[in-house]
Amino acid sequence: MSTSTASHESADGVTIPGGRVAAGAGARRPFDVAAIRRDFPILRRQVEGKPLVYLDSAATSQRPVQVLAELTRFYRDHNANVHRGVHTLSVEATELYEGVREKVRALIGGASAREVIFTRGTTESINLVAHGWARARLAPGDEVVISEIEHHSNIVPWQMLRDERGIALRVIPMRSDGTLDLDVARELIGPRTRLLAITHVSNALGTVVPVRELADLAHEAGALVLVDGAQSVPHMPVDVTELGADFLAFSAHKMLGPTGVGVLWGRMEVLESMQPFMGGGDMILTVSLERSTWNEIPHRFEAGTPNFADVVAFGTAIDYLRALGLDAVRRHELDLVDHGLAVLGDVPGVTVHGPREAERRGGVFSFSLEGVHPHDVGQTLSSEGVAVRAGHHCAQPVMQSLGVAATTRASVYLYSTRPELDALAAGLRMTARFFGDAGP
Ligand code: PMP
Repeated sequence: MSTSTASHESADGVTIPGGRVAAGAGARRPFDVAAIRRDFPILRRQVEGKPLVYLDSAATSQRPVQVLAELTRFYRDHNANVHRGVHTLSVEATELYEGVREKVRALIGGASAREVIFTRGTTESINLVAHGWARARLAPGDEVVISEIEHHSNIVPWQMLRDERGIALRVIPMRSDGTLDLDVARELIGPRTRLLAITHVSNALGTVVPVRELADLAHEAGALVLVDGAQSVPHMPVDVTELGADFLAFSAHKMLGPTGVGVLWGRMEVLESMQPFMGGGDMILTVSLERSTWNEIPHRFEAGTPNFADVVAFGTAIDYLRALGLDAVRRHELDLVDHGLAVLGDVPGVTVHGPREAERRGGVFSFSLEGVHPHDVGQTLSSEGVAVRAGHHCAQPVMQSLGVAATTRASVYLYSTRPELDALAAGLRMTARFFGDAGP
């Protein structure tokens, strides 16, 4: 690698506007939210003449200057297509791109960087399992088990496969507090189960699912386990072995990284046994006009030019998270969950859905305000500078189970603060007064 690339990835971190991100695994920055916020220029924006209060990180996180700078630097100093190239830029770009696999491996405790496949996001990762693993194996009589609190991206691919292959889809129901009914899960997971596809943290309710317990049941039944980590990997320490996962899917854009990058991690022997999902350049070893042979993993699953620049910047997002420590991120968010539940609970007419106990929740507050439609709540809050989401959150079965058409959702991340949750509560009181006065 050239000198410029070596300094680019120096062992003790990179100096860029906004500070130094220590690249080393053991490095820790003190969890200083004010300092962290300085890394996120967008958080200094005004909206409607008021300071932005960004409470929509479950949809997508904001990005620190370090990640923005890395993206620019890659295009400025190293840009070339990866793999196969013999020229210096291509070698540098390839090393930077491939180096991020190792960062991902270290983040989630995988056995080898070859187990890390880059995709466009969680959705594509789950579809890759559906097409590359399940489609070739499952036949009538086989069952896939999901839960009622899944994101649509972990429901629809299995319904499509069910309709194509004649398999059955079993659903672990949600209880009224947003947790899963584990007694029913024990009955559902059995000899016919081939795959348990389960979310780790619900994006619609914040519920933390006891994945390990369910994974043990699935493994005892001889099934594999796919974990949707879109809302857990960004927010808490996740280790694939501790979790009991055979596959783990997540998205870079929810964890300080660019859009258009996701990960499918899979256990080596499972990936080795899988067929490619897409055909094209890079995923082959040989091609003749009669037939082709497949490349090794992970390249077998990355047909075409990958999104290398964004993957490189994703590496910096991982450095940033690991420098803070995911355990510290989780502690910070638990404090915010405690505080949020308290201040929202004090607002007349607000019902917060999901588990009561903070430790069973991620940093998501999904709530209803009596007598006011969630879209009106969202718009009124936006006029106060508070960004929340209103709708079904790509989890329509959860809405059906709650008996509502939609909820308002506020979600926090490592840069969120208690005063921001106070601003949310104040905005909700104002909304309630406004719609109360306007009512009949
Ligand atoms: N699963 C969960 C739990 C999610 O929150 C999301 C994103 N909202 C997804 C899957 C899909 O992720 P993406 O849109 O990045 O593919």
